[in-house]
Amino acid sequence: MPDQFTAIASAHEKVAAAERFGTPCYLYDAGEIERQYSGLRSRLDDRMQIYFSLKANPNVSIIAKLFDLGASAEVSSLVELHTALRAGVPGHRILFLGPGKSRAEIEACLEHDVRAIICESAGELDLIDQIARGLGVTADVVLRVNASFEVKGSGLTMGGKPRQFGIDEQQLFSDDAFRRERPHVRLMGVQAYMGTRILLEATIVENTRRIFELAEQIAAHLDFHLELVDVGGGLGVAYFKGEHDLDIELLAADLNEQIAAFASRRPGTEIVMELGRYLVATCGTYVTRVRYVKESLGERFAVTDGGTNHHMAAIGIGSIGKRNFPIAALRTDGDTELVPWNVTGPLCTPNDTIGKAVQLPADLAPGDLIAVERSGAYGVTASPVHFLSHGYPAEVLLEGGAAVLVRHRDAPEDLMSRQILHRFAHASSDATPITVPVAPEGAS
Ligand SMILES: *Cc1c(COP(=O)(O)O)cnc(C)c1O
Repeated sequence: MPDQFTAIASAHEKVAAAERFGTPCYLYDAGEIERQYSGLRSRLDDRMQIYFSLKANPNVSIIAKLFDLGASAEVSSLVELHTALRAGVPGHRILFLGPGKSRAEIEACLEHDVRAIICESAGELDLIDQIARGLGVTADVVLRVNASFEVKGSGLTMGGKPRQFGIDEQQLFSDDAFRRERPHVRLMGVQAYMGTRILLEATIVENTRRIFELAEQIAAHLDFHLELVDVGGGLGVAYFKGEHDLDIELLAADLNEQIAAFASRRPGTEIVMELGRYLVATCGTYVTRVRYVKESLGERFAVTDGGTNHHMAAIGIGSIGKRNFPIAALRTDGDTELVPWNVTGPLCTPNDTIGKAVQLPADLAPGDLIAVERSGAYGVTASPVHFLSHGYPAEVLLEGGAAVLVRHRDAPEDLMSRQILHRFAHASSDATPITVPVAPEGAS
């Protein structure tokens, strides 16, 4: 590994951070973000821009780190938009996407002059036109297409199925709604997102090739100048036994061929890849502390202070039955005998299981730290943090030997303050029945 990279955090640093900021917490290793981003960036044709999908991890310091490395931002809500802006990403390097955009979100896109709004329906096109007219501007709009092809090999496939996302490929070619003149909308690009967790290089290359082709056909049919093509991405990382990380060398070599071919046909067209999981999954460690160890009907349980309320994905992603994330005891001393443990959390549901029959030290005891690795994407952001009112865990960024808190743990007051205590008079607690009219006067 080239030594200009920030060092990857050691187990000692992770233990120190967990001791200092408390558990449960997420640790994000900036050195690993850099390694992952630069590994792809340095091999990929310069003409392919990388946008970070905030959905995977919306922490403002993570976005700032990726932006400093060179990434732009793809956002899907008002707060994600403001988070990207706060991280320093300028509007012209932000794409806004999502099937249910509000009026306020569209207005914010236009006020902050985002690179483009990625539009998912004819109704949305009309609304963008109307809002842009009101603001006296023209909106740059990319059409999201629900492609009719489907390339096998991803955790969740998008193409070729009825979806709330995007506009069916067939409709773009047959429905006049998309040809209608909208004076405040400037169609200028095409986007498609074919699935997530893709671990086959050939699938990504084939998706990209077909999206380039489709984008050209759509622009020709709807008669607009193709300024931008967003080929989605969906690059995966290995989580489970039997999975392998993408061979980035091989992927980049084959993708670069497609990029070069497209760029020679369309030299001025911007090309974009939007990546969430791939950029941040490997940087994150979810750290919990063992509270109790017990045995039930011959199985060992380690009950920890954090669970699926912070890490829903650990129940198993897009798979039948549960498979374990990479889980280990976070210890800095030597080898110990490993035996199977069930790692569970504080929730009152059997689903609150972070790992089943995980190989952990036989002498695991209360106070031990447990690390769930590869948890930087769709971790706490995609989890039911309010379940049993535990709230958000602390988030900590590790970089070059330093550890910095980048999100406060929710305090009980934070959680309590959102609720409003109200009792209607007739529900008074003295249990005396009160006569309440059941129908308004005059009603029969
Ligand atoms: C979720 C999502 C992404 C990010 O997906 P990853 O698989 O995490 O890279 C990108 N684009 C769209 C449209 C998405 O919905």
